[in-house]
Amino acid sequence: MAALRRFKFVRDPDPEEVGENIEQFLHWLDGPGCLLLTGEDSSRTRALVTLLHGNEPSGLFALYRWLRSGRRPAVNVVCIVASVAAALEPPLFEHRMLPRARDLNRCFRPPFDDAQGELAEEILELLRLHHPETVVDIHNTSGSGPSFGVCCHMDRQHDALVSLFTQRLIVSDLGLGALMELSEQQRPTVTVEVGGRLDEEAHELAFEGMCRYFESEDVLRPAQTDWGLELLRDPIRLELRENVTLTYAEAPCDNYDITLLPDIEHHNFGGVGDDTLLGWAGSEATRLFRAQDAGGHCAVSRLVRIEDGNIYPAQPLKLFMITTNALIAHADCLFYAVRDDGSTICH
Ligand SMILES: [Zn+2]
Repeated sequence: MAALRRFKFVRDPDPEEVGENIEQFLHWLDGPGCLLLTGEDSSRTRALVTLLHGNEPSGLFALYRWLRSGRRPAVNVVCIVASVAAALEPPLFEHRMLPRARDLNRCFRPPFDDAQGELAEEILELLRLHHPETVVDIHNTSGSGPSFGVCCHMDRQHDALVSLFTQRLIVSDLGLGALMELSEQQRPTVTVEVGGRLDEEAHELAFEGMCRYFESEDVLRPAQTDWGLELLRDPIRLELRENVTLTYAEAPCDNYDITLLPDIEHHNFGGVGDDTLLGWAGSEATRLFRAQDAGGHCAVSRLVRIEDGNIYPAQPLKLFMITTNALIAHADCLFYAVRDDGSTICH
């Protein structure tokens, strides 16, 4: 059992107490924070997690706005604010994590033996102690783009929870060590990506969704009006092979193995045909990229094809979480893909 050494605990903070602005709020937290809000019905608890990534502020903005409003939630809420130190590292909200630290949202599985692992373990311990009926983890995407939810398996409860925020749901169980992979004890856990980290719209959505999450009597019952979620099932990640170089430009750059078009992120969640130019490369796709389907088979040739040095989708696809940041592409992946009807790419 993890000792809770890092967290600052505050129950029902006063609206004045949390600071005059978001920076003061961060300084007041001064490290990972656990805010316990007492609900009208104090027999039940929900959990809100945010700022796992220090450069994704929408959830924190929303929580600050909520605390300043002096409102009271329908049930108890345990609010976990994680990467306060990374957020405070100048310039404010620019660091996903502190330099050389692991990505916190890849640390929710053993071993918990570095600082990030210990922080993840303490978050898990807090969730065990409070046994919330649901967990919502609010993130931003690095580029601009629409909002979406992510969960590991699809049922009416996850569906209802995500619908508080957005109408698009990715169902994915990649086993990366993300918080939302821990839907143990029948506790629905979802990640919500409210949109771009610099987008006012994303901050607004985080707040509106948070109000619904905090104030609804029942967040697990599907809403009366069923708009229907757009489902994207078991996406495959397109990754770079070791030592493959990548850049983004309007024309092929000979010094790089791969050049991708800078506006590739405009395809986020839209369909791409097999004739949509994505970029250029001088070598075979399987020597540059790596991709694995759920069965563990190489899926590169089902995702992209290279013809006369041009990169195209191998078939009509829906691409999302597309990055135009080469560092993220190297550390994480270039994009996620499903077939254009939202189903998984199988053999
Ligand atoms: Zn994130």
